[in-house]
Amino acid sequence: MNALEIRKDFPILNQLINGHPLVYLDSAASSQKPRQVIEALRHYYETNHSNVHRGVHTLGSRATEAYELAREKVARFIHAPSPEQVIFTRGTTESLNMVAYGYARAFLKPGDEIVLTPAEHHSNLVPWQQAAKATGATLKYIPLQADGTIRLEDVRATVSANTKIVAMAHVSNVLGTIHPIREIADVAHAVGAIMVVDGAQSVPHLPVDVQALDCDFLAFSGHKMLGPTGIGVLYGKRKWLDAMEPTYFGGEMIDVVELYDSTWKDTPWKFEGGTPIIAGAIGLAAAVDYLTDIGMEAVRDHDHRLAEYAFQQLKEIDGVTIYGPEDGRQRGGLVTFNVLNVHAHDVSTVLDAEGVAIRAGHHCAQPLMRILNVSSTARASFYLYNTESDIDKLAAAVRTAKEFFQHALG
Ligand code: PLP
Repeated sequence: MNALEIRKDFPILNQLINGHPLVYLDSAASSQKPRQVIEALRHYYETNHSNVHRGVHTLGSRATEAYELAREKVARFIHAPSPEQVIFTRGTTESLNMVAYGYARAFLKPGDEIVLTPAEHHSNLVPWQQAAKATGATLKYIPLQADGTIRLEDVRATVSANTKIVAMAHVSNVLGTIHPIREIADVAHAVGAIMVVDGAQSVPHLPVDVQALDCDFLAFSGHKMLGPTGIGVLYGKRKWLDAMEPTYFGGEMIDVVELYDSTWKDTPWKFEGGTPIIAGAIGLAAAVDYLTDIGMEAVRDHDHRLAEYAFQQLKEIDGVTIYGPEDGRQRGGLVTFNVLNVHAHDVSTVLDAEGVAIRAGHHCAQPLMRILNVSSTARASFYLYNTESDIDKLAAAVRTAKEFFQHALG
C-alpha cells in the first residue's frame, strides 16, 4: 500500500492550514473522501437520480438498481450471508437505536440484563439506558483493566443467565482497544444472549466478517470509511430482523395499508421507511470498492504501523500521558494522550496552528473520562492516506505545545 499515491485521490488533503500543509489526523471522527466517491455522487446526481422502488421509468430503474447494488457490495464487504441483512440507516447511532427500539424494547422484561463496558461511545450506551428504563431491565458493566482492555474471565463473571444483550465496540474510539468479539459472542450465546457490535471504528480499519464474529447485530457509519455523511448500516441475523418490528412507519416500508391496519414489506425494506438515503448508499458503495481494491488487510497493517510509530514518538516526549493498551496488537489505528495537565482543547488549538488536525474532548465517552480521571483527552487517528511524515509533524507540534504551555504555566 502506497500512502503517497493514495493521497493523490484525496483533494482535500492538498491545502495549507494556517500556513502549513494540512496533516489530517482525525479520521476516527470522520474520514476524508477520495475522488472516486465524490465522482460516484456527481455521476449519480447528473445521470441517474430518481426515487427508488416506485417509478417504472428508466431513471427510477437505474436508481433502484444502483441502490440495491450498493446493498450487495456492503453485504460482501462484511461477509453477510445475504444482502437482505443489510439495512441502510443514517449511521452507527441510528443503527444502534434501531436495535434498542426494535429488539430490546420489544423483547426485554424486568430482571433481564444488558451487559456493556464503561468505555462505550454514548451511542452504544444511552440507547441501552433508555431501553432499560422502558423495560425494567438492568445495565451491568464489564470492568476495564488499567490499560483499557477487558479480560474474558471478567466477561464470563459479568454475563449471567439473565443477560439478554451484550453490546460492545469492536474497537474503542478512545483507547483504540480491539476487543475479541468472537470469544465474547460465544460467552453471550452460551446464556442465550445476543451480541451487538458497534463497528464504527472497526469496519473502516479492519477486515470484518460478521459470520466469523458470529455477532447478532453490527452497526457502522459510512462517513468514517471514506463514504458520505448521512449513510450507515445495520447488519442483523435474519431471524432477529424478521422478528423485529420496524422503527419508522410510512411510505416505502409497507405492503398493504388499510384504514385501521397495515402490513410491512420483508426485511430489509420494512426498516427503510420513507425515501431512503439513495445517494449516500451509492457513495458508500464507491467507498467499499475503493477499500476493497486496496484490501482491508493492507489498510489494517498500515494503520497499525502508524499507530505503533505514533505511540513510540509520543512516548518519548516528557509530560505526555498516553491512554490505552501498550501492546500494539491490541490497539487500532489511533493514539489518545494528554500533554502536562493542559486541557486537550488548548493542545489541539496549538496543533491546529501548525496545520495538525486532531480530536480533543470527551470523545462521547464521559463515563470513560471519569475512569481515566480526566475531563478530556487529545486523539490522533490514522487512515490509509496518512504517512510517517504526518506523525513526525504531530510529534513536533506536540513538542511545540508542551514548550508553549510549560512556558505559559511557568
Ligand atoms: N461508536 C463509536 C465507537 C464511534 O467512534 C462513533 C463516532 O464517533 C459512533 C459510535 C457514532 O457514530 P455516528 O456519529 O456516525 O452515528
